[in-house]
Amino acid sequence: MRVFVVNSGSSSIKYQLVDVETEHVVLSGLLERIGHDGGDAVDHEAGMRLVLERLGSHAASIAAVGHRVVHGGSRFTAPTRIDDEVEQAIAALVPLAPLHNPANLAGIRAARLALPDVPHVAVFDTAFHQSMPPAAYTYAIDRGVAAEHGIRRYGFHGTSHQFVAERAAALLDRPLETLKLIVLHLGNGSSVTAVDAGRSIDTSMGLTPLAGLVMGTRSGDVDPGVLLHLLRSGLSGTELDSVLNASSGMVGLTGSADMRDVEAAFEAGDADAALALDVWAHRIRHYVGAYLAQLGGLDAVVFTAGIGENSSSLRARALDGLGHLGLEIDADRNAARSRDARVISADDAPIAVLVVPTDEELAIAHAASRLVH
Ligand code: AMP
Repeated sequence: MRVFVVNSGSSSIKYQLVDVETEHVVLSGLLERIGHDGGDAVDHEAGMRLVLERLGSHAASIAAVGHRVVHGGSRFTAPTRIDDEVEQAIAALVPLAPLHNPANLAGIRAARLALPDVPHVAVFDTAFHQSMPPAAYTYAIDRGVAAEHGIRRYGFHGTSHQFVAERAAALLDRPLETLKLIVLHLGNGSSVTAVDAGRSIDTSMGLTPLAGLVMGTRSGDVDPGVLLHLLRSGLSGTELDSVLNASSGMVGLTGSADMRDVEAAFEAGDADAALALDVWAHRIRHYVGAYLAQLGGLDAVVFTAGIGENSSSLRARALDGLGHLGLEIDADRNAARSRDARVISADDAPIAVLVVPTDEELAIAHAASRLVH
């Protein structure tokens, strides 16, 4: 069975045709600068027609289309077959994800027009985290205000966290239902999730993907009073949004959002880079300790995404000093290069440390195929 996976951004369409049984990517591509001068298409509809042309005879083999959707609010707790009503529900969630959901919707509408005869499935970044208990997702703010505006923790990267937790269980050769895991998704956007028996019980992102860890361009956690102070100091809402989402995190502290640059600067003796890496690791350890407590035990810490999969030095830095908890990385195993899921702690370590490559497209393909089968 082949699933066509669509990840539609505001000015881009990323696509992959995946054979679900073999997990082979038959074809993949990217349209960029949609709607801009000299871009690949004038709008998402034209873009999708172009994608279909590129697919050629492969288009006939598509059994389902899987769409990445960022925000599913409290309503969507699992991958969902898309009809007009589901499309409207995704549109109703735009206030919670004003950048992402309109872009995802444009992709859904264009793909349903281009491929009207196959089932379309929405796979939500938030859905996996709907299993969090109220104690984890409730913000202690005026409950009337919270209810009126849908204010609560939703969490993101759920498709990745779930996929990685499943693959971690396979690697450990233990049923996921018996495991307590902390999954560190460390990429340009980063989040950490406590997974108990295959369910998310807490996660670091919140109402939006701005909360939690220090990221490439996003601040992660700050005292909300900082926002009030800056508002009173004359910054507009738009300026605040831009500061916290686009010019904070590693880029705000060092001038580069790319951890490779930050590490190179640190090696060259740059004091800003040294502080930034300390802040980055301090925040990770803060969450590892907190989730160890929330889980009431821990079988494995799992690293994934661009930084988690590729940087042995940053993995070591993230867990530095946690040996007293039973969390220790084996230096040789950590340094060995591989693209496969692997264990990087000693065989007799009380808590395993793993590297498990994530693959959101593959996860979306599996989710869509399970739903339409
Ligand atoms: P992602 O969002 O998962 O694609 O991750 C992208 C980020 O991973 C980049 O912005 C880099 O900061 C980081 N990254 C990728 N490879 C390496 C590496 N070898 N060392 C350090 N950071 C890396």
